[in-house]
Amino acid sequence: MTLSLLLSGLLLAAAPENAVPADQQPFECTSCEAWNAAVEPRQLAANSWYVGTRGLGAALIIDPEGLVLIDGGLPQSAERILDNVRKAGFDPADIRWILNSHAHFDHAGGIAALARITGAKVAVGREGVIALTGSPPYHPDDPQAAFGSLTLFPRVNDIRPVDDGDRITVGRTTITAVASPGHAPGGMSWSWRSCDASGECQSVVYLDSLNAVSADDYRFSDHPATVAALRDSIRRVSVLPCDVATAAHPDQLPQAANGESACARYAAAAGQRLQQRLVEESKSSASP
Ligand SMILES: [Zn+2]
Repeated sequence: MTLSLLLSGLLLAAAPENAVPADQQPFECTSCEAWNAAVEPRQLAANSWYVGTRGLGAALIIDPEGLVLIDGGLPQSAERILDNVRKAGFDPADIRWILNSHAHFDHAGGIAALARITGAKVAVGREGVIALTGSPPYHPDDPQAAFGSLTLFPRVNDIRPVDDGDRITVGRTTITAVASPGHAPGGMSWSWRSCDASGECQSVVYLDSLNAVSADDYRFSDHPATVAALRDSIRRVSVLPCDVATAAHPDQLPQAANGESACARYAAAAGQRLQQRLVEESKSSASP
């Protein structure tokens, strides 16, 4: 036996078959375990399923020609999402596209593994490509950029960048990108139609985060372009056709009520939070 054969034998012995692949190594954060708790998949509309975990959204869109998945949760969410795809009665190998809401570890962390396992192509808002490919590792305009290496997650190299209004099509199903930056550069909500066998149709929306949250030293009031982008996102989302909605953080999704869609109420709540944040910042700058 040659030395290299001996060494490769030793390496194989050191990497048991059930070892967790590098792109599925668990990411650790205070909320991660609660977010990643398994929940059963549930049907949202005729062609749409919720396949995420308790706290991190993921949606599956079904066309006879193939499937589209939105979001990948954490690296350790990938298996949960694939389990839910199977439980809903579908084959992960039929996933043609993986779309992303925004390029943070809790929504894009599982995409590398999911793309590797399914062979699906990946589409992300243009400014999100920076964080997903890791060059530079974090978008400099991200309000959470100062969290730096804490936020690194498995990289995805082959990405189709999308802009507002771009469409991803599989068979007769078209999913439209709705630019939703402000929480993160390149943020996208996604909108599509779902029609049942009788021809009854609904508008379905996957809502990106619209929360004005940041690293400690970041002040939104010092970044008027980000505030303007977030206000535009909130306005765009509030008027979307929205019979059915799910969200990147599903627990932040209000019910439709008083004639207002869930999207409109979600947008209104985000607008109030932004306003409150700006008021708090103005108070803290006024104190000595
Ligand atoms: Zn985020």
